[in-house]
Amino acid sequence: MRVRFWGVRGSIPVPGPDTARYGGNTSCLEVQLPGEAPCVFDAGTGARALGIELLRRPERSVNLFFTHFHLDHLFGFPFFSPLFAPSYRLNVAAPGFAAEATRERVGRYLNGVLHPLRMSDLPAPVDYEAVRPGVAVIKGNYSITPVQLNHPGGACGYVIEGGGKKVAYLTDTSPLSRPGEGLAGGGAPNSREVALAKALRGADLVAVDTMFTEDEYFEKMTWGHGYPEYAAALCREAEVKRLALFHHSPDATDADLDRLGERWAEGYHGVRVVVAREGADVDLEG
Ligand SMILES: [Zn+2]
Ligand SMILES: [Zn+2]
Repeated sequence: MRVRFWGVRGSIPVPGPDTARYGGNTSCLEVQLPGEAPCVFDAGTGARALGIELLRRPERSVNLFFTHFHLDHLFGFPFFSPLFAPSYRLNVAAPGFAAEATRERVGRYLNGVLHPLRMSDLPAPVDYEAVRPGVAVIKGNYSITPVQLNHPGGACGYVIEGGGKKVAYLTDTSPLSRPGEGLAGGGAPNSREVALAKALRGADLVAVDTMFTEDEYFEKMTWGHGYPEYAAALCREAEVKRLALFHHSPDATDADLDRLGERWAEGYHGVRVVVAREGADVDLEG
């Protein structure tokens, strides 16, 4: 299994010299098993470059999962090249109760006003699907289990298993405990944290929303984002092998993210900690 980060930024794309190394594109993660159609998580602006790359590969289908529909996770969708290749087949899934609701929510963007295209203009066939926390969906040799996150308006993370490997994508989310309580307080996990840690147990790689520092989180607790100390505690509880700090603040420069990586270079109680970088491949076979 291979994982590639196509967009690692939160909230708004921030191209420019200060973000050139870690990348300025917003959330998009690709997971691929050899010879299988890829699974893609979120279509932030990083999805544009991914789409171009996908058309160069032999596979002609892709499974796209949305965590939620805040614009930084949707903006790249109509710039995703497979949508314009009639030979391609797309499956688009999002948390909800009905496939039609997934289509309708994407359609709020592709409505001829916010974007010149409408849904009916897309040349490739697209199937829409609703997924629910705790209910695994099977796509080829992947098993994908949505998990409930803590974000205004709701969001689902995903645990992806296949080829004997396990990866999870947890953005956008605040801690599941209040300051001073549960894992956020350095104590025993609460019931929601126990359930999430069970879903993550032993994962090879988990990408977690760490947009804030711990101090920023206390100022912006209702914004629905997390911080590295909490992500590390969660991954330690779940015996995760590698944590990727993800959904970087648009204010974080390359120098800031270098410092973040240095601060976590020794890992955390056996959890290796890396800073997600646009274009980086994580090969889980090695
Ligand atoms: Zn976001
Ligand atoms: Zn969001």
